[in-house]
Amino acid sequence: MSPARPRPVLGTVPLYAPDPTPAFLDLSDNVNLWGVPPAAARALQEPLAAKPSVYPRSDPAELRTALAGYASVSAAQVITGCGSDDVIDGALRAFAAPGETVAYSAPSFSMLVNFARVNGLEPDPVPFRGDGDIDPDALLARRAAITYVCSPNNPTGTGVSQDALERVVSRAEGLVLVDEAYGEFSGRSAVPLLVRAPHLLVTRTLSKAFGLAGLRVGYGLAAPEVVQVLEKVRGPYKVNVLGEKAALAALDEDVPWVLRHVEAAVAIRERLRVDLEALDFRALPSSANFLCIPVPDSAALGRALLGEGIKVRVLRALPGIGDAIRVGVGPWEAMERLLAALREVRR
Ligand code: PMP
Repeated sequence: MSPARPRPVLGTVPLYAPDPTPAFLDLSDNVNLWGVPPAAARALQEPLAAKPSVYPRSDPAELRTALAGYASVSAAQVITGCGSDDVIDGALRAFAAPGETVAYSAPSFSMLVNFARVNGLEPDPVPFRGDGDIDPDALLARRAAITYVCSPNNPTGTGVSQDALERVVSRAEGLVLVDEAYGEFSGRSAVPLLVRAPHLLVTRTLSKAFGLAGLRVGYGLAAPEVVQVLEKVRGPYKVNVLGEKAALAALDEDVPWVLRHVEAAVAIRERLRVDLEALDFRALPSSANFLCIPVPDSAALGRALLGEGIKVRVLRALPGIGDAIRVGVGPWEAMERLLAALREVRR
């Protein structure tokens, strides 16, 4: 018998394997550090009421309607998925044929590159402009089947200007995928552009501002024709019954809680930036709920912080930036612990 042979391209795809070491304070994945919003938490108190013995609906119509209300679009413009990862992966498969390219400003969300390769596509990185914005003309010049814009960008946190975004959306030939996983924190969105952009897909998630990362509920907003294609590619039952129940409760009752904590995260982020500067750490400008801090040796700093009980994301050799650490922003007491640990490791 011959051994099972994976497609050769998979040899170039690293496993997404964040450091599993437990830490007293985990600032490594940009989730809501205040936790789960109250109505969602109540909905999860009776898990059996969600009927886990039966399949979820193949079309979570109620959830789509609730997400549509939150995003001010129609339910026919909403696709749900097992995290926004699922929607991004499906969109790459649906709107580019093997061998075609995905243009994106680098560095960006690492899974974008993995999803592109796994789907037989060529990731095509484009440098950011000197001012930290995306370079619309350089992206457009790639004439890619898919142009991916992460707004705000992960891992840098930098925002995307409305001008640059509009230029890409109005001139791109293929699908434009705007990833707004951290959109709530920037107060900006590509969603209003949907009315005149039948080739635009905006992906979002309940994993970040909504505090429900463990439930894996993501969604995409696009023209109904795009949504129908994505439904075929994604397959049924991706949002499980508990995720659907908690998401519905959160969208119904928790939006003010979410917005309050978004506001707190933004204020604390800027307060943290100032205190970091006093320690000689200069974070990049951020429109998200995290800061990206260039450092000479991120692996060494990450290890030292872990020794102090704090986990941060260690980023190596980012294009145009070099080594950096990325820290999630949360309650000020948590940030004080981070600052104290940084003072300790700096001694
Ligand atoms: N996009 C970006 C930019 C992200 O940082 C993440 C999560 N780290 C995702 C998408 C995927 O998130 P989820 O699958 O939890 O919705």
